[in-house]
Amino acid sequence: MRVINNLLRSLVSFLFDNRCSVCGKELEPDDVLFCKGCLEALARSNLQIEQIDELEFIIPLAPFDDVREAIHTLKYSGWKRLGRKLGVTLGEKLSRVDFLREFHILLPVPLHNTRKRERGFNQSLVISEGVSEVLGIPVEKKTVVRVKNTRSQTQLSEKERRKNVYEAFKVKAPDKITGKNIIIVDDVVTTGSTTKEITRVLKDAGARRVGVACIGRPKSKGENL
Ligand SMILES: [Zn+2]
Repeated sequence: MRVINNLLRSLVSFLFDNRCSVCGKELEPDDVLFCKGCLEALARSNLQIEQIDELEFIIPLAPFDDVREAIHTLKYSGWKRLGRKLGVTLGEKLSRVDFLREFHILLPVPLHNTRKRERGFNQSLVISEGVSEVLGIPVEKKTVVRVKNTRSQTQLSEKERRKNVYEAFKVKAPDKITGKNIIIVDDVVTTGSTTKEITRVLKDAGARRVGVACIGRPKSKGENL
């Protein structure tokens, strides 16, 4: 019984007695990891649109350091409510970008089935659903699949990353892609090798414009995550 009580107590303190990961303020019951003030500040923080030739653009919600803990918690604790909240915050930021009104599809970076089974969910999909809630753009989750179970990119150089993800993705339903403007959604974009590879297959399938929205983006892009 004591074991269960202790477990319950730590669960309760984990869920209810937590503090904002940015400012340390005690959280209200419906806050997750961030207090409302800090979440709003994230949404308001500088809107950075990186224009990149091949990719067209990358729009991050925040510098990676500000959301490091949130992304880690989302990925490894499977806290979907947090992912959705981050997605909504990202969506609010994207709603300030006029040209995105002409975009038709949100495309979460697909996980390989094996990885999805291990983790139980795709964090990019959860984030996309939050973004979709704000922008009203539908999420396409089965149109592109990951056919190669690539190894983690963390320790790889940029060149190795490109090789690692080459031909890792496949468009299953090109008719849903042709002529469309697409926003790829990911949790973190570092060198961009994954999103570039997805962009390549989307363009091959006839996509018109392809851009990227993500939660975290390291300031120095070569940083290993
Ligand atoms: Zn705070």
